[in-house]
Amino acid sequence: EMAAVLAHELNQPLTAATNYLHSALPDLSRCGPMGDSVGHTLELAKGQVLRAGQIIRRMKCLLTPEHHELRIETVSSMIDDLAPIIGLLAGEGHVQIRYEIEQGVDAVFAERIQIQQTMLNLIRNAMEAVHERPRREVIVSGRALSPSLFEVCVEDSGPGIPESDVERIFRPLTTTKTEGMGLGLSVSRTIVQNHGGKLLVRPSRLGGAAFFFTLKRELEETEE
Ligand code: ADP
Repeated sequence: EMAAVLAHELNQPLTAATNYLHSALPDLSRCGPMGDSVGHTLELAKGQVLRAGQIIRRMKCLLTPEHHELRIETVSSMIDDLAPIIGLLAGEGHVQIRYEIEQGVDAVFAERIQIQQTMLNLIRNAMEAVHERPRREVIVSGRALSPSLFEVCVEDSGPGIPESDVERIFRPLTTTKTEGMGLGLSVSRTIVQNHGGKLLVRPSRLGGAAFFFTLKRELEETEE
């Protein structure tokens, strides 16, 4: 819903901005070499505004279940791809990050990019949650819950989530951060639900929050 509203509302100013940039170009062409140079820069700006429109339209498609293409992926390989960016974030925040993924049983049905986006949202939140804590620890774990379900969990040594806030934090535009958009958890929950799973939170063994979600396992590969 958020994506649809955003796509609709942002499309109009973006189209207007493209038109304004476009109509400035003939005037600039009459200004000689300086005009040409500014014109070139405006062309670049126009390209970026058009790209912003495409991103928004694609986001709307991605969040619509019928556009999903679930493939067989392993959780460990999805995390491997993210390792460099996670390492960078951990280094910047002086966070100790640990991975505990049950190997050999982690083949799941997933839209790779979207599940990676979900993981990254949760990991970034976890790192931000431990920022002010004396002990800064994050664990990313994965285990087979049942023959048909795999659980991924991101937990931290932050302050945790008070019981009264547990449902509220998943609503769009709910944030306690000055720079926050409050979209990470709601988008992540939608992605997981479109995969037929659930994204929930419980207390962590590290003292903070443990966000966990389920994915459907690919049984042929995992039950050898
Ligand atoms: P944002 O990160 O932009 O605030 P989110 O939807 O990802 O948006 O998170 C919403 C709110 O939930 C955060 O502002 C924070 O208050 C709370 N939250 C999310 N993850 C954690 C966590 N690991 N520990 C404590 N609070 C959290």
